[in-house]
Amino acid sequence: MRRRRWPLLIVGLILLTLLVGNFDSLRSDLYAARRAGQVQAAQFAAGGDQVRANSHFVLYYPRRDGNYASLVLAAAEKAYGKVTGDLGYSPPGKLTIVMYPTQAALAAAVGGLPDETVVGLYWEGIIRIPYPGTWIPAAWPESVRAAYFFQNGPMAHELTHLVLDYRTDGNYPSWFTEGLAQYEDKKITGYVWTSPRDNEKPYSYAQLDGSFYSLPDQALAYHQALSLVERLARLRGQAGLRSLIARLAVGTRFPAAVQQVYGLTPERLASP
Ligand SMILES: [Zn+2]
Repeated sequence: MRRRRWPLLIVGLILLTLLVGNFDSLRSDLYAARRAGQVQAAQFAAGGDQVRANSHFVLYYPRRDGNYASLVLAAAEKAYGKVTGDLGYSPPGKLTIVMYPTQAALAAAVGGLPDETVVGLYWEGIIRIPYPGTWIPAAWPESVRAAYFFQNGPMAHELTHLVLDYRTDGNYPSWFTEGLAQYEDKKITGYVWTSPRDNEKPYSYAQLDGSFYSLPDQALAYHQALSLVERLARLRGQAGLRSLIARLAVGTRFPAAVQQVYGLTPERLASP
């Protein structure tokens, strides 16, 4: 019964939106409806696990979790105020986190992972993480594990992806969400994944704006994405980024939104 409601809702949204003649709104409504369906499906799949919630999050976690659930929820809550404040948006309701018992289970849920170093990802409306016990020793004292997880874990980064996605319903290029997530992560936890390397030929803006996740040197692509967002932040500060995101939220295309807020094209932004 749950699965049947979504097609009817989507047909209803299509008819409603055609009546008011707003294509951007239709795209946004369809995106949000699909994402909500994916969140429900993931919650249903995790139904046999344990559930715990705090002010802003609900976490589904495996029965043998080794007391990692509390540190995951605490880290998410700690990042919440900073990320939502910086992006100027708090998504409605509690946000879903799913902890998978193994890296393989996470990979199966999202159709594969690039490698085994992934400690979390935002996908289809949900922050998804593998069991942190695979990279944080259970023997460490609880306070040490909590601090280590917050600083080296995925919560600030993935929460940024989530808030941007719920705010704009997918209206952003991949490089922007990856740059913004790294920018927030660096501000909040100090974590930086990649550093610039000498003698590396940077990707062009067209390459970054194309199939970002297919570029062969992901470390370089991620580094360039962070650099572009840092450039935006230097130009107009956090208020400028909030203005840019607010324009994306009403359906303005990314190049036009950059032009409106910063007075330049994304290509110009990316030029040396
Ligand atoms: Zn990311």
